[in-house]
Amino acid sequence: MSETLLTFPKGGIHPPEYKDLTDHLPIEDMPLPEEVEILLHQHFGAPCTPLVKKKAEVSEGDLIGRVEAGLGANVHASVTGVVKEIGLSAHPVTVHSPSIIIKRDPEAEPPSPTPVDWRSLSRDELLNRVKDAGIVGIGGAGFPTHVKLSPPPEAKVDTLIINGAECEPYLTTDHRLMLEHPKEILEGAKIILAILGIDTCHIGVEANKMDAVETLRKAAAAQGAEDSRISIDALKVKYPQGSEKQLIESITGRRVPAFGLPFDVGTIVQNVGTTKAVYDAVVLNKPLYEKVITISGKGIQRPANLRVRIGTRLKDIVDYLGGTTSELSKVVVGGPMMGFAIPNLEVPVTKTTSGVLFLTGEEIDDRSYSNCIRCGWCLDACPMGLAPNEIGIYVEAGRAADTAHFGVFECFECGCCAFVCPAKRPLVQFIRLAKMKARKD
Ligand code: SF4
Ligand code: SF4
Repeated sequence: MSETLLTFPKGGIHPPEYKDLTDHLPIEDMPLPEEVEILLHQHFGAPCTPLVKKKAEVSEGDLIGRVEAGLGANVHASVTGVVKEIGLSAHPVTVHSPSIIIKRDPEAEPPSPTPVDWRSLSRDELLNRVKDAGIVGIGGAGFPTHVKLSPPPEAKVDTLIINGAECEPYLTTDHRLMLEHPKEILEGAKIILAILGIDTCHIGVEANKMDAVETLRKAAAAQGAEDSRISIDALKVKYPQGSEKQLIESITGRRVPAFGLPFDVGTIVQNVGTTKAVYDAVVLNKPLYEKVITISGKGIQRPANLRVRIGTRLKDIVDYLGGTTSELSKVVVGGPMMGFAIPNLEVPVTKTTSGVLFLTGEEIDDRSYSNCIRCGWCLDACPMGLAPNEIGIYVEAGRAADTAHFGVFECFECGCCAFVCPAKRPLVQFIRLAKMKARKD
């Protein structure tokens, strides 16, 4: 009997998936690059202060940047070598960031960690390991994980949700992690449950990855009765199923209030990659200095799911994969719905890079836009129940600052509205501008 697929009630779209370019490709370790360029600001919050000087020798995993004040996450050396430069580098999203460039020592031996039994550690020790390892939400904006795992006591969190939806087209990183590292993900989930002091966990996976659902279910069953508290939930294939608010409603039926946070409805959401990083940090004492990313699109010679060191420059990845094709038209960091186009390949991989897409003319729609024809499709598509058409019209009329009453700050820029618009209106760009102006006034 086929199972009922969970989903959220309002809006959503079904963009072409293009996941078949990489979903069958096992995770591949990219050879270490000669240099890494590690950004000191690669997460939500304040940049790190560098702890090393030029010419310093550093080893893989060493702390090289620490958050001195405010929100943020530590950064670590991703290779063993010598600090070549401390300066300013290109950033895939914020244009520039302070950085540390390390020239790798080709003779260095990789560390060989001794696994620890995490059950012997206290809740504070577990949380400190997550904090020290510099873990951030690696599937999204990079919110520091130790902060997310310390909700206020009045929040009464009772449910952990592990996000394995991976609803963005092209991206297959989480899919491969679930297929290849189910035990680490389940163990990571148990560590997070122990930190939160709760018992209930759901891992939500879109039904276009039923092999991952089955793999996780088998691994959970093999681990015995204690894992009956972790359920693996198959979700309907519908973008943006992996957005926090939609995922929570799909799985628990709870609706996060406007401007609210998941803990307001008793939930904490973590991405599967972040959960694996928690396992690595706690059990292997390994900071977050490498990650798996999807390199895809018809504009790259060899698409792949690559495990790379944080700080690896995109141009080194392209060289490793045999270069780009002559039809390459656009490079996007992240998925096609919420990612950012970048002008060159000088930027390094950060903790939040989920993929890099090399898109050809046939994969992008660059037709010019026209007036709103008031078809209402964007209203049907918006999972937040907003009126993106009205926001767009206000922005064009020079009244961007007056859009707050359309709920512009509730928009999380999923792009559903722009995707369905027959007039090809750049609704997300309009909304970003509206937020900027409305904030200033
Ligand atoms: S981008 Fe914003 S307005 Fe458009 S569909 Fe998504 S949430 Fe709604
Ligand atoms: S989908 Fe486009 S054309 Fe239709 S109402 Fe929305 S903005 Fe206007």
